[in-house]
Amino acid sequence: MGLLVVGSLGLDTVSTPFDKVEEALGGSATYISLAASYFSAPVNLVGVVGSDFPNRYIKLMEEHHIDLDGLQVIENGKTFRWAAKYHYDLNVRDTLLTELNVFEKFDPVIPEKFKKSKFICLGNIDPVLQMKVLDQMNDSSYVICDTMNYWIEGMKEELLKLLKRVNVLIINDSEARLLSQEPNLIKSARIIRDMGPEVLIIKKGEHGALLFTDDVVFSAPAYPLEMIYDPTGAGDSFAGGFAGYLHRTQDVSPENLKCAVIYGSAMASFCVEQFSTKGLENLSYLQIQDRFREFMNLSRFDEKV
Ligand code: AMP
Repeated sequence: MGLLVVGSLGLDTVSTPFDKVEEALGGSATYISLAASYFSAPVNLVGVVGSDFPNRYIKLMEEHHIDLDGLQVIENGKTFRWAAKYHYDLNVRDTLLTELNVFEKFDPVIPEKFKKSKFICLGNIDPVLQMKVLDQMNDSSYVICDTMNYWIEGMKEELLKLLKRVNVLIINDSEARLLSQEPNLIKSARIIRDMGPEVLIIKKGEHGALLFTDDVVFSAPAYPLEMIYDPTGAGDSFAGGFAGYLHRTQDVSPENLKCAVIYGSAMASFCVEQFSTKGLENLSYLQIQDRFREFMNLSRFDEKV
């Protein structure tokens, strides 16, 4: 049984202080699926695009053994579009455009063969749609969920209902503060875990990520990259690496969750090295493992007695 991924597929127009891309491949499900494809095959994708979605992107996903039987292609429909501009400080981005288009009427239908998936990764989309996915699935699935400020601000009530059914929530630090209404991240984590998810991951951009479970607070470093070309999709690539590794190992113990956080961080670091999804398109598992080991060395130290 593959890993089920549901989320957005879109065309992104992104500018950074270094360059600009127009209508490049983007979307939460796209980044998650590409990142997860290095760990678990097949990745079962459910989403929607319009008939303007370029065929070369479909081919790219097929080459990564992403099963597209759950992808709806709406005749004469317009694909989701998103535009953003990054500042000199790449942690700061302005969203210039969110055009939901075919997502406005999207009704996620999970193909029968995907319904027994033991691991589900809900990419960032409307929480009502994320809930519709869970309604079609077996209750024993392990649910990993991403969201963003757009939904926290606009659909908080629906999001809170969803969180009661989620095992792992992955959000960034500003989203955690927004959701919990608490500036301190440790207190914020407690408040959010009380909303439902037994595991919470708070990503801190270029400062790494924090994992919170009942007994564990684990701090993952960020990979020291000299050049970040495009931070878009870093969070989704993190979720894809994290979910893909858990699915591959079928182990959700706290120790294995730590490894999954490092694999997620490794995939995010590959993602930001190039524009759009380029950094995730031609990797090998060996390269990913090498980066995992580099992460281990980043915070390994011995006590001198
Ligand atoms: P990230 O950089 O991880 O926050 O993800 C950026 C990706 O999320 C882009 O490729 C966008 O196409 C997609 N995205 C942005 N806003 C939304 C939204 N409101 N709903 C679904 N996907 C979105």
